[in-house]
Amino acid sequence: MRGGTLLAWGVRAGRSGPGEPMEMRMTAPLTPQELDGFRETLSERYVELAREIERLETEAFESPSGAPLEEQADEAAEMDKDTDVDLLEHRGRNLQDVTRALERLDEGRFGRCERCGTWIERERLSVLPEARRCAPCELAVA
Ligand SMILES: [Zn+2]
Repeated sequence: MRGGTLLAWGVRAGRSGPGEPMEMRMTAPLTPQELDGFRETLSERYVELAREIERLETEAFESPSGAPLEEQADEAAEMDKDTDVDLLEHRGRNLQDVTRALERLDEGRFGRCERCGTWIERERLSVLPEARRCAPCELAVA
């Protein structure tokens, strides 16, 4: 939670009033404190995702076997498995995004949109530090 407090401070410190000055969004580099906060959040997320993926994989491969299954139960189990596989895929992509964001932090490229090169909105990064694109680009590619 310490990181979140730091972030809130960082966002408020640079702002003179309500509204969003455009040039600030375009030029403001993230402060070292902000980057530390993002690194902390991303590292925690990485560990959480890696753990969950491990758990999902374990469950997927340790599905109950040997027990005689009715056809209905079979279908239900099949559906469960599909959901788990979807979830596993989704978490896998998340982990990849988080890993890439950590790489960008190391390379000093963190916070820039991969598509247009602009700074990704602070508000967006504080919610989704692994974001690869700014909000307008995300909408454009969606
Ligand atoms: Zn962009």
